Amino acid sequence: MCGIFGVHGHSDAVRLTQLGLYSLQHRGQESAGVVFVDEKGGARAVRSMGTMNDAMSAELERVKGVTAIGHTRYSTAGSSTIENAQPVLSRTRGGFVALAHNGNLTNAAELRMDLEERGSIFTSTMDSEVIVHRLARSNADRPEERLAEALCEVEGAYSLIVTMGDTLLAARDPRGWRPLVLGRLGDAPVFASETCALDIVGATYEREVQPGEVVAVDAEGMRSSFPLPRRELKRCVFEYVYFARPDSRVFGGSVDRARRALGKRLARECPAPGAELVFSVPDSSNSAALGFAEESGLPYELALIRNHYIGRTFIQPTQAGRDAKVKVKYNPVREVLEGKKVVMVDDSIVRGTTTRGLVALVRAAGAREVHMRVSSPPVTGPCYYGIDTPSREELIAARLTPEEIARDLGVDSLGYLSLEGMLASVPGGPHGFCHACFSGDYPTAPPTDPDKLRFGCGC
Ligand code: SF4
Repeated sequence: MCGIFGVHGHSDAVRLTQLGLYSLQHRGQESAGVVFVDEKGGARAVRSMGTMNDAMSAELERVKGVTAIGHTRYSTAGSSTIENAQPVLSRTRGGFVALAHNGNLTNAAELRMDLEERGSIFTSTMDSEVIVHRLARSNADRPEERLAEALCEVEGAYSLIVTMGDTLLAARDPRGWRPLVLGRLGDAPVFASETCALDIVGATYEREVQPGEVVAVDAEGMRSSFPLPRRELKRCVFEYVYFARPDSRVFGGSVDRARRALGKRLARECPAPGAELVFSVPDSSNSAALGFAEESGLPYELALIRNHYIGRTFIQPTQAGRDAKVKVKYNPVREVLEGKKVVMVDDSIVRGTTTRGLVALVRAAGAREVHMRVSSPPVTGPCYYGIDTPSREELIAARLTPEEIARDLGVDSLGYLSLEGMLASVPGGPHGFCHACFSGDYPTAPPTDPDKLRFGCGC
């Protein structure tokens, strides 16, 4: 998963992009980058491994640009390197092209092979670079026509922010897998993965970039087109369940409201009779736990405290990194838990590693009974569309039944939200969502060579 941001025609474009990336940091913590375009059309990139940091901020303070785009990234296995940090910046015969991508292209391996056979030389292992090479080869007149031509054979998930000369472009794949919103700061259009990034720069939310839409902005104004073939809508339901920030709107709906509704539905489907209190696994489950507490009439307590200086365990690329971080990330509040029958609400269980550790912590702090409730169905398959869920073998729900999972985790009971319940609870549901990692109903044929895809994918 990644966060993307872009602003056009603002004297403070670099600083605004920097701020935008701070609020999209939850979408990727392995690298961050900004490309800015000056008034003469020159472009420069500042990129760094890790989060937006002081050194990068200090460097960005010294530069000026009227248009800028930014990217926060997490990668899939084996590709967490500075060469793969985005935005990608290339000099083409038509001028500078910069690209920030959120999503995964499912036919990147085939497209890359084809381009290499025709002489393209790649400088990274990212799928996103395929789009840049295709852009460079286009002979179309207008930037939006070149982008449409570059995207016409591309399959899979992409929300993109691109600069070509002094034109800023934004595009979303026809299935709309990943979010992308448009806002405005004065006269300057601002694009971002989530509305929390508009809020931080003081921009007003206007609308979503529509699935299949290409938006171009230059000195002549803004143009919208729909050059890509229409497809069935497949927005990622996991954005509502886990990934997006609760203070954001994505896919036209409030993430907080979605999570509360998921929690309420969970309380109706999987009540926990006899329980005395509800708490969340912070922070992504807070709203769902509030919904569960409200619906069940139980008090909501803060029983786990999260250390905010440790990144999300889910987006650490290696198991060793994940295990070490779980231990220092949460601490239980003994005074809340001691002697109590408790409901622990989490948004999802992926490998089970984190949950097992948390249950042990909660029991060690004196909880008498631990009833685990999950505000999504069991995750039984990998994601090919931009979220780094692990291979099927690593997913606990792909190997064990719910009863076996409960024993493995050490809980007194375990309840998952049903697929129907999840889809009925999210704004705009139940139709138009991808739920493949829960249901096995993949909207595209799985890639013929998933390993190659995982090696090559951008975010
Ligand atoms: S497979 Fe799951 S995580 Fe991936 S896009 Fe679909 S719903 Fe989202």
